[in-house]
Amino acid sequence: MSRFFSSRYADLEPYTPGEQPQERKFIKLNTNESPFPPSEKAMAWGMAHLRSLNLYSDPSCLQLNEKLAELCGVDPEEILVTNGSDEILNFAFRAFCDERRPAVFPDITYGFYPVFAAVNRLPFREVPLGPDLSLDPDDYRGAGGMVVIANPNAPTGMLLGRDGIETILRSNPDQVVVVDEAYIDFGGESCIPLIRQYDNLLVTQTFSKSRSMAGGRLGYGVACRELIRELNTMKYSTNPYNINSLSMAVGRGILEDEETVRANCAYIARVRDDTARRLAELGFSLTDSKANFLFARSDRLDGETVYRKLRERGVLVRHFTKERIRDYNRITVGTEEQMQLLPRGLEELLEESV
Ligand SMILES: *Cc1c(COP(=O)(O)O)cnc(C)c1O
Repeated sequence: MSRFFSSRYADLEPYTPGEQPQERKFIKLNTNESPFPPSEKAMAWGMAHLRSLNLYSDPSCLQLNEKLAELCGVDPEEILVTNGSDEILNFAFRAFCDERRPAVFPDITYGFYPVFAAVNRLPFREVPLGPDLSLDPDDYRGAGGMVVIANPNAPTGMLLGRDGIETILRSNPDQVVVVDEAYIDFGGESCIPLIRQYDNLLVTQTFSKSRSMAGGRLGYGVACRELIRELNTMKYSTNPYNINSLSMAVGRGILEDEETVRANCAYIARVRDDTARRLAELGFSLTDSKANFLFARSDRLDGETVYRKLRERGVLVRHFTKERIRDYNRITVGTEEQMQLLPRGLEELLEESV
């Protein structure tokens, strides 16, 4: 550490993103991206905006905001578009937590939550998931701080029904409840329609997983006007031009073509369920994932070995070292062709191990 580094951050442990190898030799199933590029139509929207890169982007993000409002069935004032949903999550930690109001989330969930707390010098509390990695809404009664629930959860992919979320909302009327719906399009029911009923609900979604735009960095939050106003205070105190004009335009193009997005999600869900069946036949245990990834464990090989051996075979998956889940790997669902190679690779390495 240099002698210049702020003592406030001396013990800060940053988030570790999945690898993004620049050579294309890997079948990349480690960061839950879409295997499909944005449609030609969406790309054309971006091309048209290259000419105006000399100008700042629209800080109100009007063209995206209005279209999203229409698709979500809410008003534009109930939406805030951000640089990936990571940004709105960070804003939410800053806006709705303090020393006496910790962030409260499961022990097994998105690894960025504790980092948002740490970088903002905010306390947090982890609530253990059940032995089968399921979430019991009753564990969040009177949580005493801002509750953050990824739904479907990551990296388990397990979905909590809307009534489960409502239980948490009702038992925490004086705390914000963030429902991170990064994976909702692959098989869940969004809580967005509940924002008029619960003024403590913030739903976040992203263009990164179902909308083929992970590199474009677009996310958004939906909540009652007052919460969105406060989140905007964070945005305008950080970076009013948080969305670049190219992503804004391509994002708008993608929203004009919701049928393609829906077809892509249906494809991924089908390949996910087929792959899950084949992995189960090979003796893997899997969680009931409703996301665009599988979470799988072998009873013959530890998770680290599976990760390493798949990597040697050119398949990248995500392995976590956290105690409770270190025998698992998270495997992004890619194209049918990619997923056909996976069970074959796993079968080989299981044979090697006997
Ligand atoms: C991927 C992911 C996000 C954030 O993705 P962005 O690319 O920043 O939109 C948020 N939450 C969960 C659970 C995720 O898996």
